[in-house]
This record gives sequence, C-alpha cells and structure tokens, in this order.
Amino acid sequence: MAIEMNRQLFAIKPATGAALIAEYESRTAQSKIAAERARKVMPGGETRTITWHAPYPLTGDKGKGCQFTDLDGNTYFDVINNYTSLLHGHAHPEIEKAVVAQLAKGTTFATAHEPQTELGEILCERVSSVDLVRYTNSGTEATMNAVRVARAFTGRELIIKMEGGYHGSFDDFEVSVHPALAMAGPADAPTPTIDVRGVVRDTVNSVLVAPFNNIDALTRLMERDGDSVAAIIIEPVMGSAGTIAADREFLQAAQDLAARHGALFIADEVMTFRLGYGGMQEVYGITPDLTTFAKIIGGGFPVGALGGRRDVMSLFDARNPNPVYQSGTFNGNTITTVAGIAAMRLFPRDEVARLNALGDQLRKGIADQLETHGLPGTVTGYGSMIGVHLVDGDVRNYRDGAVANQTYKRAVHLALLLEGIFAAPRLMMCVSTPMTPEIVSDIVTRFGRALDRVAA
Ligand code: PMP
Repeated sequence: MAIEMNRQLFAIKPATGAALIAEYESRTAQSKIAAERARKVMPGGETRTITWHAPYPLTGDKGKGCQFTDLDGNTYFDVINNYTSLLHGHAHPEIEKAVVAQLAKGTTFATAHEPQTELGEILCERVSSVDLVRYTNSGTEATMNAVRVARAFTGRELIIKMEGGYHGSFDDFEVSVHPALAMAGPADAPTPTIDVRGVVRDTVNSVLVAPFNNIDALTRLMERDGDSVAAIIIEPVMGSAGTIAADREFLQAAQDLAARHGALFIADEVMTFRLGYGGMQEVYGITPDLTTFAKIIGGGFPVGALGGRRDVMSLFDARNPNPVYQSGTFNGNTITTVAGIAAMRLFPRDEVARLNALGDQLRKGIADQLETHGLPGTVTGYGSMIGVHLVDGDVRNYRDGAVANQTYKRAVHLALLLEGIFAAPRLMMCVSTPMTPEIVSDIVTRFGRALDRVAA
C-alpha cells in the first residue's frame, strides 16, 4: 500500500529518465571507456557493489578539499566522502605531510610503534567508555572481532542486531540488512533473512533481529532469549538503512536490557564517530561496553578499531594463557595511524560543532527544496550525516524508508551528478571540513536544479 502510494507520488516520465542517462553518457565519455576497460578485469568493472550505478559509475581522477574531478574533467562537490570516511575531504595538506614524512621511515613493522599508541591515546581520551583499543584494517573486522570477544566474554552465542543495521560484510551481519519487505515478517518481530547469497543458512540461528527504535519489541526479544544473548549491536544513527537517528531512550533501553541479562552492548560508531567529539555515544550520554570504529580514524586510509571495557578487551591480551586470538598483517600500520592522528587533531570540539552545523544547514536546505518542488520527502540524520528519503511521512526505521520509489531515487542521483554533486546512489550525504556555509548553499541550489531536471 505504502509502496503503491509512493509510486504515484514520485512518478517519473520514462523520457525524463532516458534524457538523464543520455546527458550523463555525453558528459562522461572517458569514464565510459574506462568502465569498459575495467569490466574486463573486475566483475561489472567495480570492486564494491555499493558504488555501482547505471549506466556505469564515474572514474575519479583527482581530488582536493571538498571537490574531485573525473576523467572527463567534470568537477563534483563530494558529499559522500568515501562513505563518510574523508572527514577532511581530499588531499588535506596536514594529512599529506604526516603520511609523506612517515613513508620515508617505513610503512609497517611487525613490532609495536609509537603512532599506534598515540592514536590509541587519542581514542581513549575522546571516548570515555573506551579503556583499551585494538586495530583492524576495516570496520567489518572491527565488528567481527567485537562480536567474537563478546561471545568469548559471555560464553554465549546469540547476537541481536537491528533490521536494516549494517555492520560490514562478515557473515553474522549479512542478516536483515536490506530485506525485501514481503519476506521480512511482522514489523514488530522481524524474521531474520539472509539477503546476501553465499552466507551460511544457519547464520539466522545465531543472529536475532529487532526493529530499530522499538523498545517494546526489543524488550520482548530480550525477555524471551536475553539469557543466551552475547551482545546487542546498534548503530546510534543507522547509516546504510538511510541515516536514521536512534531515540536516546531506545539506546538507553538497549544498554539497560543488555546489562540486566548479562549481555554486552556494542555501539557501532564506524560512521557516527564523526558526529560528536566522543562519538554519538557522548551526544546521547550512553556507555556501551564495546565500540567499533573505522572510516575517519584512518585519515583516508584503510582502518578499523574496537575498544571498550578493560575487562572485556583484556581477553585479547597475549599475556593471558588463552587469549582471544586477533590477527591482521596490516593492523595499526604506521601510514594509517599517522594519517589518523592528523585527522583527529584536525577535529577538536569546535570543528565537530561547525561541521554538524553545516550538516544541519544542508539538511534544512534540501528539505526546503523538496517542499518548494511539492515533493513530500523526508530528510533524516544528525549533524554532518544526511539521508534523503523520497517518501511521504516519518522515517524512523528501515521499513519506513524501504518503501521509496527506487526509480525516482536513481533519477535524482543521476540528476545530482549532472549538477556537479556526488552523493551516494541511495541519497545518503555527508559534509566535510573544507566546506563553508557558502559551499553548502551552492550545493542546496544545485540540489534544487536536480529536482527541476527530474520533474521535467
Ligand atoms: N559498520 C558500519 C556502521 C558501517 O557503516 C560500515 C561500512 N559502511 C561498516 C561497519 C564496515 O566497515 P568497512 O567498510 O570498513 O568494512
């Protein structure tokens, strides 16, 4: 019903879609040639499913600050920043300086080294719930290790995640990430689904799924199975599901339920760490047992980390007779950690606040543009992270956003590219520190012009 209503509200003329594609192709001839070449060595010419879009994705050439240029010389405001990780945009001089200086000294050692410790000190200082950290090479490995140590600590195996929650590409978390609504069961008691082919079917027996922002449903689940649950994992603002902020009360309830049942509460701050000096947990005033990080803490390089309570993290301590084994050849390598230190130093409290204010400006500007165009869309998120939902009504969980007309969304994404705005195809956006209020105003104006194109 909701899907049908959205189809009518956001109807797009086939000729408009064809015109957008034709103009994209004519402006990106070099990217088209590059995509054909890439297809010969990579499936679909890409190495990340998420970055592909029809008719072919751009090939980037160089970036500086909040803009980058493609092979055809078209310049874009980057409002996705490699899925929120490029906090300081492209080629920030301070980060470049730190990396170049370290390159001459060696990229990685199978020893401890000072940049690892220094970045760890920064994370422990910023995030009061974090006593100890461990590094990984990606957010996926961070959440995988967080769940593993939670299972080891509690001696239990069940994990609870949110419907629509994304925690990386580890098998346990490829459950109910973007389930087809017809397969997903009741809204207040979702059926765990495996949406990625190749994941072991049994995974659904160790992962329970709860609806986001629904305290009653989570309470019922914990009353039923809580004593077998190792951890509840939640993104304080769901990213993949559409940049949807949790209610503070919901996170507090999750934390309390976990504590009451002897489970751990894991905050996945891989994306949301950019939203507060001490992460989104500081903004909400919650105290997770474990926190996962990635993206911004690597200054643009591959990274992940997990941290938390001393007693839990100490299970990794190799001085123990039987530690939780954690490996990774490039964990905490010098290049990533010196870049991360520079990125964190460039992000003191007043910068966090300035960036969030720019995000608020962008969110409001886009909402105003939708209204001016007579479109009943909803713009979600918090501070520097923004989600645009072409749906009528509130978006408080995965299902609210999943009814969007995908054809319309794709058309807006393509129209944004034609207006020099590089957003995620799912219409997620984030701002970066090289931006100013004037640049955000320009982006809003271009967003309006993109809507004009789609309505044409
Ligand atoms: N958790 C969250 C909340 C994420 O958004 C992501 C990636 N977008 C991950 C984990 C996985 O991180 P990575 O892509 O570095 O493996």
